[in-house]
Amino acid sequence: MSADSPDLSRSRAELLDAADPLAEFRTRFTVADPDLIYLDGNSLGRLPVSTAERIRTAIEDEWGRGLIRSWAAWIDLPRRVGDAIAAGVVEARPGEVLVGDSTTVNLYKLAVAALDARPERRVIVTDDDNFPTDLYVFQGLAHARKLELRIVHSDIDAGLDPAVLDAALDEDVALVSLSHVAYRSGALLDMAAVTAAAHRVGALILWDLSHSAGSVPVPLTSSGADLAVGCTYKYLNGGPGAPAFLYVRSELQEQLQQPIWGWFGQRDQFAMGGMYDPQPGIERFAVGTPPVLGLYGAEEGVRMIAEAGVLRLRGKGAALTSYLVELADAWLAPLGFTVASPRNADQRGSHVSLHHPQAWQVCQALIERGRVIPDFRTPDRLRLGLAALTPSFADVWDATDRLRRLVEAEEHLEYPGERSRVT
Ligand SMILES: *Cc1c(COP(=O)(O)O)cnc(C)c1O
Repeated sequence: MSADSPDLSRSRAELLDAADPLAEFRTRFTVADPDLIYLDGNSLGRLPVSTAERIRTAIEDEWGRGLIRSWAAWIDLPRRVGDAIAAGVVEARPGEVLVGDSTTVNLYKLAVAALDARPERRVIVTDDDNFPTDLYVFQGLAHARKLELRIVHSDIDAGLDPAVLDAALDEDVALVSLSHVAYRSGALLDMAAVTAAAHRVGALILWDLSHSAGSVPVPLTSSGADLAVGCTYKYLNGGPGAPAFLYVRSELQEQLQQPIWGWFGQRDQFAMGGMYDPQPGIERFAVGTPPVLGLYGAEEGVRMIAEAGVLRLRGKGAALTSYLVELADAWLAPLGFTVASPRNADQRGSHVSLHHPQAWQVCQALIERGRVIPDFRTPDRLRLGLAALTPSFADVWDATDRLRRLVEAEEHLEYPGERSRVT
């Protein structure tokens, strides 16, 4: 095999699998259909076998038998799962992460807390390719508080250029909020450099870690990051609707106040006092009764990710995405596909987007006939998520092979061009 003709055989994928230190983790997930290749673990992670058991116990024993007495154990879950995320998923100290509410709601709570901490400043900075819910939250805040929302331009494939961000920062900026890994392209920002740029003008920074927690190292402490939010149902495999996490750097906790003054944020909650007096630590960012079953799902998922280890996950994620890019260059480029993610593995997370003019039709054909589940993302991107614990190198080979065969035979043209509501 010469250096300029890469080995594209399936046996090479099998060799890579045989050398994979994380291969054993595949057996810890429920696989209902072995022929189906799941490349969407970055939207909804697969079901860990232990989660089904844990939630069954919670329902039958804790709820069924224990009834309200089980709250003695449940009440600590938001903090306990938060500490597990701090210990094994993101770089944070105990007492800096709390789990509960959705990512959107946590983003709102932390954004308001940050804006109130910089009352003399009038600007929120984000980018135009940030996840839509983030953009909507900031639009709502700008509208309600008559602030300026300064939206910088990001390339939808290459990600945000730090120089473009720098040019938008000045002493009017209260808050900068960005996604660490871009949801469409997978472009990865340099957390330390961007955090430093926000701090240079005295702004606070709020990171959205939804596509980075569980896929790449998240250096919150060493970057000096202020605030962050993220999902547990994506790479953390917490299950549909599992609650999100929030991070507040400990030095800031007592200075910040979130806007939803609920009883789970109250000091000595069961004293049932009439006046709001928030907890001193991270619990002041809690609101109401936590979703116990979802928290158990998050706890099981986080446990497995922590056991696998962020560096090993990052290593395999980069190897899988690089392998996919190599196969795409060889097989898919001649069929009209282009890689719509950073080509350098250091600059992307654990998913790869491919541009194709009929991406929506290709996506439908791939699911139905190819038995491969990717995501479609506007305007014409096929997004392939490679959550490191589940797809194998052979899965990447098979999925790319099925994709090229379908498109070679133009089978995708038999599917409607109109998009459906959920993609
Ligand atoms: C998935 C995702 C969300 C989802 O927010 P929810 O409130 O859980 O629906 C938010 N932000 C980003 C960047 C995401 O990728």
